Amino acid sequence: MELQQKYELVIGLEVHAQLSTQTKLFCGDSASFGGDPNTHISPITLAYPGTLPRLNKLAVDYAIRMGLACNSTISSVNWFARKHYFYPDLPKGYQTSQHINNICQGGGIRILVGGHERIVQLHHIHLEEDAGKSIHDAHPGKTAIDHNRAGVPLIEIVSEPDLFSAEEAYAYVTEIRKLVRFLGICDGNMEEGSMRCDANISIRPRGDKKLGTRVEVKNLNSIRNVKRAIEHEAHRMMEMAERGEPIIQQTRSFDADHGTTFALRSKEEANDYRYFPDPDLPPFVVTPEKLEGIRLAMPELPDAVQLRYMQQYQLPAYDARLLSEEKDSVLYFETVLCHTKEYKSVANWLLGPVKAWMNEHNAGIDSFPLRPAQLAGLVNLVSSGNISFSSASSRLLPRLLETPDADPALLAANLNLLQNAGSGEIEQWVAEVLGRMPDKVAEYKKGKKGLIGLFMGEVKKISKGKADPKMTTTLLEQKLNEL
Ligand code: ADP
Ligand code: MG
Repeated sequence: MELQQKYELVIGLEVHAQLSTQTKLFCGDSASFGGDPNTHISPITLAYPGTLPRLNKLAVDYAIRMGLACNSTISSVNWFARKHYFYPDLPKGYQTSQHINNICQGGGIRILVGGHERIVQLHHIHLEEDAGKSIHDAHPGKTAIDHNRAGVPLIEIVSEPDLFSAEEAYAYVTEIRKLVRFLGICDGNMEEGSMRCDANISIRPRGDKKLGTRVEVKNLNSIRNVKRAIEHEAHRMMEMAERGEPIIQQTRSFDADHGTTFALRSKEEANDYRYFPDPDLPPFVVTPEKLEGIRLAMPELPDAVQLRYMQQYQLPAYDARLLSEEKDSVLYFETVLCHTKEYKSVANWLLGPVKAWMNEHNAGIDSFPLRPAQLAGLVNLVSSGNISFSSASSRLLPRLLETPDADPALLAANLNLLQNAGSGEIEQWVAEVLGRMPDKVAEYKKGKKGLIGLFMGEVKKISKGKADPKMTTTLLEQKLNEL
C-alpha cells in the first residue's frame, strides 16, 4: 500500500463503440457483426479504384446523441481526414477518421465510486471507420483477412487523463456502456468487440502536476480486463520507478490468462499518419435545427430516471440507480407500477429474486417469464398479507416460473400458501379490538353503523392482513349484537 501513497496513478481511456447502424459508414454494405468471412463487402469496402464513399447520416446522428448525452459541444462544421498507415486488413491504406475538428468536443461522464460522485472530463468524441480483421489461427503459416468489419462505423470516446484508479476506470467504462445502450446507438457487447478500450496509463509522484510517461494497453475486451490491466500496469510501473528504471513510452497488450501485460512496440516518437482532409468526402454541417431535432428525440437518460425514481417513488438512491441502469428494466419496472403502488416492494422484488433469476440464467429482464402484471400480483399478495414474502419468493415464484400464465392468487390458493386466519383467530382479534374501543362500541350501538369500517380496519391492522374481510364482518356484527 505504501507505493500507492507515494505515487499517483493517472489514466486516460480511448473507448471505441461500434454504432448499430444497418450499413457501413461510407457505403451500403451490412454493418452487422459476424457473417461468413467477406460477405459484407462491395467494391467500396474493398477500395477498388474509382469508388467513392458516401456518408451514412444515421451514424452522424448517433455520434451527436452520445455527445449530447455527455454535455459535449457539437461541432457545426465537420470533415473527415485520412489517417495513413499500412496494414493488410486496411484495404484503402488509410483509415477515414476525424482529425483536429471532431464532432463532439469536451463534455464528461458521471461516475460513482465508493459513494463519491465525480464527472470524468472528455477530450472529444470522433467518428471513424473500423478496419477489417486479420485471422492468424485459421490456416497454419498463413494469415487470412476478413473484410466484413472494414468500414463499420465507430465512435471513439477519448477521455482527458482524468481517471485516478482502476476502480474509476471500471466505473467509467460501465457508464459508457450503460449510456450507449440507453441511447440505442451500440449494443455495448465487449465480448463481440462492439466496444473496445485502450488504456493509457502513467504514474507520477503524488503532488506532481506534470504527467508521467505513459504506456498504452491496447484492445481490452471486457470491463473487468480494463481494471485488471490497469492494476497490473500500475504495480509494474511503480516497482520500476522504485528501482530507478526509466519508464519508456510503449504500446502493450494484455494477457488475460495471466493478468499481465507485454510490450508490443515502443513508441518513442509520435506516429506520422500524414493526416489530411479526405478530398472524396465533402465537409458536413450540423445545423442548429438538426441538433435540436436530435435533442428532442433523446430518451430520458439513466441519471434523470434515477432522480425521478427517488422523487416520484421515494426510492433510495441505491435502488433507483440499479433500476435505471437498463432501458428494458426501466420499461418493466414502470409497467409493474401500472398494476400496484407498492413501489419499494416492487424494487425489492426486481433487485432480489428477479435479479437472482437473471444472474442464474445469464439473461436480461426481457427473458424473464413473468409479465409485469403477474409480478404486481405477487407484490400485492404479499402487501395485503395473504402470503408472506418468504413463501412468495421461495415457493410461489418457482411454480409461477414453470407456469407463467397462471394467476398468482389462484396458484397460491391451490398450493395452500395463503395464510388466511381461521375463525377462532379472527374472533380473538375482534374481541381485542372491541375491548379497546368501548366508546366507539357505544356509539355504534346508538346507531352509528358506519363505525364498522373503523373496527374492520383495526382488525386488519392487528391481523397483518390475514383476516378474511367477509368473515371479519360477520364476526364483528355477531359480537356487536351480543354486547
Ligand atoms: P494518441 O493520439 O497518441 O493516442 P493522445 O494525446 O490523443 O495520444 O491521448 C490519447 C489518450 O491518452 C487520451 O485519453 C489521453 O487522456 C491519454 N493520455 C495522454 N497522456 C497521458 C498520460 N501521461 N497519462 C495517462 N493518460 C494519458
Ligand atoms: Mg491512442
